[in-house]
Amino acid sequence: MNINTPSPRLLSPEQIAQFKAIVGDKYAVTEQAEIAPYVTEDRNLFHGCSPLVLRPGSTAEVSAICKLASEHRIALVPQGGNTGLVGGQTPLNGEVVISLRRMDRVRESDVESNTMTVEAGLILQNAQARAAAIDRLFPLSLAAQGSCTIGGNLSTNAGGTAALAYGLARDMALGLEVVLADGRVLNLLSKLKKDNTGYDLCNLFIGAEGTLGIITAATLKLFPKPRAVATAFVGLQSPAAALKLLQIARNEAAGSLTSFELIADIALDFSVRHGIGIRDPLQSKHQWYVLIELSSSRDDAGAALEAILEHGMEDGIVDDAAIAASIQQQEAFWKLREEISPAQKPEGGSIKHDISVPVAAVPDFIEAANAAVVQLIPGARPVPFGHLGDGNIHYNISQPIGAETAAFLAQWHEVNAVVFGIVLKMGGSISAEHGIGVLKRDELPAVKDKVAIELMRGIKAMLDPLGIMNPGKVL
Ligand code: FAD
Ligand code: ZN
Repeated sequence: MNINTPSPRLLSPEQIAQFKAIVGDKYAVTEQAEIAPYVTEDRNLFHGCSPLVLRPGSTAEVSAICKLASEHRIALVPQGGNTGLVGGQTPLNGEVVISLRRMDRVRESDVESNTMTVEAGLILQNAQARAAAIDRLFPLSLAAQGSCTIGGNLSTNAGGTAALAYGLARDMALGLEVVLADGRVLNLLSKLKKDNTGYDLCNLFIGAEGTLGIITAATLKLFPKPRAVATAFVGLQSPAAALKLLQIARNEAAGSLTSFELIADIALDFSVRHGIGIRDPLQSKHQWYVLIELSSSRDDAGAALEAILEHGMEDGIVDDAAIAASIQQQEAFWKLREEISPAQKPEGGSIKHDISVPVAAVPDFIEAANAAVVQLIPGARPVPFGHLGDGNIHYNISQPIGAETAAFLAQWHEVNAVVFGIVLKMGGSISAEHGIGVLKRDELPAVKDKVAIELMRGIKAMLDPLGIMNPGKVL
C-alpha cells in the first residue's frame, strides 16, 4: 500500500557523518541492500525508503541522535522488531530509522517486587524466558513474539492471547524511560504499583506508536508462574453459544480463565488446508469453535475446565470438545489458532480489521458485518476469529474464489466504511490491537471524539514541536 509515494530525504554527507559518530560506523547502515529489511515488512503491504538506519546501543546514544535530528529537523522513525501491522514502523518518506534492537539488556530483576527492568529492544520471547528463569511469568503473548520487542509492544499497546486475564501491554508496565524528540531523557522508571503524583505520563507514550518519543527502557510487572494449564478445543453452533460458554467459564473459573478464542469454521478450514501439520482436533465439523485456556497456581485447572465443558454440554451449548492431554496437544491447538492469519494468504487477497465491540455485542456484530460485506462484494468470504473474551474480533475478509486480487484489495476503504459503520453503531473501536499507524490514520478523525483529536494534536505539538518523531503516523 503506497500511502505516500516515498522520496528519500536528502541528508548531507556531513549530517550522515555526525550521526555515524554517535553510534559508530559499524552501527550506521547506509548500504541500500542492508537497509531493505528495515523499510519493508513481512506482508509486503508497506514499502518505505531511508538513507540511513541507526542502531544505537544506549539511551545516551538515542538522546544524542534525537538532539542532532532536532537541530537539523531530520525526521526519525523508531523501530523494534518490524512486525507492526499498520505501517507505523515504516519510513514512508525517507526518514532516518532508529532500530532499538541492539538495546536488549535486562537491567534488573527484582523477584520480591515482581518486576523486571529491560531495554526496549529486548525480544518479547526473551523477556518471557528471562522471567521464567526467575520462576515468574511475563504474560504478554502473541504470534510475533519471536521477533517483536518490548518497546514495540508498549508503543502499540499490544494485546495478544492472554489479555483476558492479564490485560494489554499497558497493564504490564510500571514505568518507562523515554527519549523525547529534543533529546531530553524522561525517567519514569519505577517499581511502584501505587504512585499518585500527578498526571500519568507513562500512559501517553504507551500506544503512541512512536509519535511522541522513543521508549528506551521499561519496568515490567511479573506474575506467579502458573502450575497447571488446561486447554480445550470446543465445537459449537454460533457466536451466541460461544458467548454463553464464556459466561459459564467466567463464573466458574474467574481469574484463571486466560484465553477464550472464537474461530469460524472457514478459519479452521484455511488453517488445516494451508498450515503444515495442522489437524482438526474434533471428530466432526462444526460451524464455530472456541479455544479455551485456564491457568492456575494450583493443580485444579484441568478439573475446572472439565466442569465448564460439562456445564456447557448440559445446557446444550457445547456440541463436542477435546481437552489437550499433553503439552504437545496444547501447542497443536494454539498452532491451529496462530496459523489462521497466515493461512489466508494462499486464499488470495485479504482485507483485515482488528475491531472491538462490547463483548455482548460480538454475535450481532458478526452477523451484521457478514451480511453487509457479502452484499457489497458478492462471494467475499468473511473469516472472523479472535479474542471473544475481550470483544476483539479479527474480522478478516478473503477475496471471492477466482476474483482478481488487486481489484478486491482496491475496495479496502469501501469495506472499511461498511465494517466501521457497524462497529461504531455498537459503541466499538476500529482498532483494538494493531493501532492506527498510516493504515487507519485517515479514518481516525471521523470515528474519534473531536475534542480527543484536538487534545492528541496538542500533546503531539508540545512533545514534538518540530514534527520529527514518526511524522504522518496516527495523526
Ligand atoms: P515495530 O513493528 O517495530 O513498531 C511498531 C510501532 O511501534 C511503530 O509505530 C514504531 O514506530 C513504534 N515503535 C517500535 N519500537 C519503539 C520504541 N522503542 N519507542 C517508540 N516507538 C516504537 N498485536 C497485538 O496487539 N496482538 C496480537 O496478537 C498480535 N499478533 C501479531 C501476530 C503477527 C504474526 C504479527 C506479524 C503481528 C502481530 N501483532 C499483534 C502486531 C503487533 O503490533 C506487533 O507484533 C508488536 O507489538 C510490535 O512490536 P515490534 O517490536 O515489532 O514493533
Ligand atoms: Zn489478536
